[in-house]
Amino acid sequence: MFEKILIANRGEVALRIHRACREMGIRTVAVHSEADADAMHVRLADEAVCIGSARSSDSYLNKPAIISAAVITGADAIHPGYGFLSENADFAEMVEKHGITFIGPTVEQMRLMGDKITARKAAKDAGLPITEGSPALETVEDALHWGKKIGYPVIIKAKDGGGGKGMKIAFEASEVEEAYTMAKAEAKASFPSDVVYMEKYLQHPRHIEIQVLADKYGNVVHLGERDCSIQRNNQKVIEECPSPALNQKQRDEIGEIVRKAIKKIGYCNAGTLEFLYEDGRFYFMEMNTRLQVEHPVTEAVTGIDIVKEQIRIASGAQLGYSQKDIRFNGHSIECRINAEDPATFIPCPGKIQEWHAPGGLGVRVDSEIYSGYAIPPYYDSMIAKLIVHANTRNAALMRLRRALEEFVIMGVKTTIPLHRDIIAQSEYLDGQYDIHWLENFMKMKGDHK
Ligand code: ADP
Repeated sequence: MFEKILIANRGEVALRIHRACREMGIRTVAVHSEADADAMHVRLADEAVCIGSARSSDSYLNKPAIISAAVITGADAIHPGYGFLSENADFAEMVEKHGITFIGPTVEQMRLMGDKITARKAAKDAGLPITEGSPALETVEDALHWGKKIGYPVIIKAKDGGGGKGMKIAFEASEVEEAYTMAKAEAKASFPSDVVYMEKYLQHPRHIEIQVLADKYGNVVHLGERDCSIQRNNQKVIEECPSPALNQKQRDEIGEIVRKAIKKIGYCNAGTLEFLYEDGRFYFMEMNTRLQVEHPVTEAVTGIDIVKEQIRIASGAQLGYSQKDIRFNGHSIECRINAEDPATFIPCPGKIQEWHAPGGLGVRVDSEIYSGYAIPPYYDSMIAKLIVHANTRNAALMRLRRALEEFVIMGVKTTIPLHRDIIAQSEYLDGQYDIHWLENFMKMKGDHK
């Protein structure tokens, strides 16, 4: 087992990893930017190294600085968390070349899944259901050709895309030129490559993803699904496990298809396969080869600590259990709480004057915030995750409502009022929502867009 792990991240996920390490008797090294010298992840870690100035490109994305910090402190592994360098195969390769273990899958698997075009092919070959799609598009004419072949509406996506960027929809042929040009321009601005491709655009799907764990010896389990359909701008806002849309038979079926596919691909470590789900059918979208923000809902329902499993697997341990040992208990819901204006989503960094997190049975709060902490303006605006767990969905909803009532954050605007609003709506309560529900609801309320 590792003796010391460097955590190449910040915020709540850095804390999450630190906590797993602590419980495993592993020492931790925090890295931080100049803007994060007072951050909780720096305070809790055994050692801390400043790796650059506030801008992410100078610090949390600064590969040589992070690797130097690992070498200087004698860390034997690096956990990348999510975001930043977590899906950067070049970084993983550099880490391994320095004799340090990258806690994640292999470099080859990251490359395969990091490119949406090769990932789609691998998924299809491994037997996963998938939307109709094109290869890389060379020209507008090419895009028009594929639009006709696939049938409108279609969505044009960047092959290296992430975070909902570089995606444009064309409802008919006349919209293809603009969608193609804009998707390509966005890809060029945000990603290493401006290559785009096209797939069928589903109009009313849910976003349902399957969590897997796989060791280096071909043992694979799935940990059920998460429904992440409550989104705005293609970003998740509330996630739950299990999905109110699936029955046990559908759950077992897709879980088994995924488990077999992962075994066939030979993937190792934790991963998530994201699907769109419409009219009783699943369509593979992409695989995330890292820890996901919403992993705690799966932990609540299965009792499995996904971060500890990532570390164990990376150290060469066997899973030690099989699918039949996985038990799914009760229902869990997570709210992402952002320091943002709840109506406009404009970030609202600043000093936290008062902080009181909810507690009690079945309530978990993952957050880096403390009273007096000043949220820096340079990074993602998520400041806390509130996760509840109870025996049934109804009980989880009641628990979530009272936990949101208890939550006090003074000094900055947060999205807590939005969460209170969402979970009071009958469609949400009935589990009747698709990926467009939240944006339609906000339009109806007369808020932003
Ligand atoms: P990213 O890597 O940027 O997160 P994804 O491919 O995971 O991009 O898609 C993000 C979101 O965009 C999905 O959760 C869904 O809401 C929407 N989306 C993506 N592909 C499609 C599609 N073919 N049809 C309808 N919606 C889609």
